[in-house]
Amino acid sequence: MADACAAAGRPVRSVTLLAVSKYFGPDAVRSLHAAGQRAFGENYVQEGLAKIEALADLRPALEWHLIGPLQSNKTRPVAEAFDWVHTLDRAKVARRLAEQRPPALAPLQVCLQVNIDGGPTKSGLAPAEVGAVALEVAVLPRERLVLRGLMAIPDPCDDPAVQRRSFAALRVLRDDLQARLHAALGAAAPVLDTLSMGMSADLEAAIAEGATLVRVGTALFGARQPSVAPMPRDSG
Ligand SMILES: *Cc1c(COP(=O)(O)O)cnc(C)c1O
Repeated sequence: MADACAAAGRPVRSVTLLAVSKYFGPDAVRSLHAAGQRAFGENYVQEGLAKIEALADLRPALEWHLIGPLQSNKTRPVAEAFDWVHTLDRAKVARRLAEQRPPALAPLQVCLQVNIDGGPTKSGLAPAEVGAVALEVAVLPRERLVLRGLMAIPDPCDDPAVQRRSFAALRVLRDDLQARLHAALGAAAPVLDTLSMGMSADLEAAIAEGATLVRVGTALFGARQPSVAPMPRDSG
């Protein structure tokens, strides 16, 4: 990350490292926290909730991000336990999260997930849908839920030039969206300061294109082994 920031002429502190701890147990999170890591990402709601519970003694030193799909019937525990949701793709889910966010907690921080490469089976909003959904999310009560930016998972690809094209497209979409929200809402427009993009294999390209948060699992924890630590599947 430091090398990629230097190459891009960006301060190292302009990019947050999100440690993706899916499939790894609480002890792995504990050791990384002891080494100074604060933000952790989970893909599956049930697995994440179990880990948050098991590590309750470290709160509030830990920050928990949901980076996997969120169904509308699972919003309550997410609103009650997570700090961030990166995978919002429907205004209805955002409204439920805002309603269910306990007033005693800081507002839930959210990103809209964008299907930036347009793959037909991939999750996330089509780029053309982002503006309308963002406007609906941006007017929800700010003390419950705050729109922070965009997230994408481009198609895996070894070619850094192709990787950069997808990440650049997300950055341009964010810039356009920011302008559109300003035009519609004026000073009440949320500040879209977050571009959640880049993983172990492509974080250099993402940082070159303006990522403010990279989601890194394998490069921190090693290869995931689902056969040894089965993935707790979300039922229903
Ligand atoms: C698993 C996952 C990551 C981490 O991937 P690595 O290649 O292990 O770094 C990042 N983002 C999302 C959405 C993931 O599901």
